[in-house]
Amino acid sequence: MKKIVILGSTGSVGTQALDIIRSSNRFDVFGLTCNTSVDKLIEQALEFQPKFVVVFDESMKKSLKIALSHVDIKVLSGMEGMLEVVSHPDVDIVLTSVVGNIGLVPTVEAIKAKKTIALANKETLVTAGEIIMPLAAKYGVKILPVDSEHSAIFQCLSGENPTAVDKLILTASGGAFRDFTKSEIIDKKAIEALKHPNWTMGRKITIDSATLMNKGLEFIEAHWLFKVPADHIEVLVHPQSIIHSMVQFKDHSIIAQLGVPDMRVPIIYALDYPERYSNDVKSLNFNEIASLTFEKPDYDRFPCLKIAMDALELGGVMPTVMNAANEILVEAYLKDRIKFYDISEHIGNAMKTFKNINEPTLEDILETDLWTRRYIRSLIKM
Ligand code: MG
Repeated sequence: MKKIVILGSTGSVGTQALDIIRSSNRFDVFGLTCNTSVDKLIEQALEFQPKFVVVFDESMKKSLKIALSHVDIKVLSGMEGMLEVVSHPDVDIVLTSVVGNIGLVPTVEAIKAKKTIALANKETLVTAGEIIMPLAAKYGVKILPVDSEHSAIFQCLSGENPTAVDKLILTASGGAFRDFTKSEIIDKKAIEALKHPNWTMGRKITIDSATLMNKGLEFIEAHWLFKVPADHIEVLVHPQSIIHSMVQFKDHSIIAQLGVPDMRVPIIYALDYPERYSNDVKSLNFNEIASLTFEKPDYDRFPCLKIAMDALELGGVMPTVMNAANEILVEAYLKDRIKFYDISEHIGNAMKTFKNINEPTLEDILETDLWTRRYIRSLIKM
């Protein structure tokens, strides 16, 4: 049995992971963590009986402790608690499914403790790919992607020579506003963006999907994960989300990975790697698919995608500035405090204002992240 820690177990990926762990007998849930959703964490803890639970918000530790006082589960809190659990000697694999840059430091610690990383937190590689990938290599740690696109590419590359890769083709559903004009999108509210056509995901990522920032983050993530230069990565809108991504090789042969859009497939692939087992996910029925279509992404309607590509090219801490600004702006958009295109505009402002730092350290990245959050909060008065 693999001993697993799930960072962010109450979120969308975390609950879907537990859903599939429940029906297998291959995992021993060792630790579960949440940000503030203690009620859900208590429920999960009572069912899965982990050795540790951690609530990031320190003020909630007491109520969590009281609720679990009758069972043998150690209750911790804060970043310190997360770091203690991910680096515990008994742990085999850490699923990093927290949302946002908060996943960075625990991932670094887990790598240093030589844990296999099932990476669902894309912000980790977006902000610190330059540090994380060499660190993982140094400690001989596997980073297994959970994001469906990266899982697809990872599977397409299996057994292939990396030097034979011509380009990665990242597919995108196009998000909730794919078929609207710019003047229609201007006034769209978060509640409409949350109606994602294909995937069941958390609120932040569903907004990122509507702005195409999600694909921008994935573009940067793919660059670091697969060591492929930006001009050899292409984004392709594929509204049906059946092809999860593709790799074109130098001989112009293309390998694609397909399936129904269900996050449980890439999650369990990462957790069971290199094995595959049967599960109760629906299988793809080709007779039910009318057609698979493709279109070019539109940078004019969805400027966030281009901003992310630019941030990667600028390098240094620019992806961190972009990511931190986006996190605050998405939060504001979810609260109806700003409009759709304010997101891209303010990210652009932050990137113009901040002086880049080349070859940043982890401290530079964390400081830049804080600076950007403060800057954006003052800009939008939030
Ligand atoms: Mg994805």
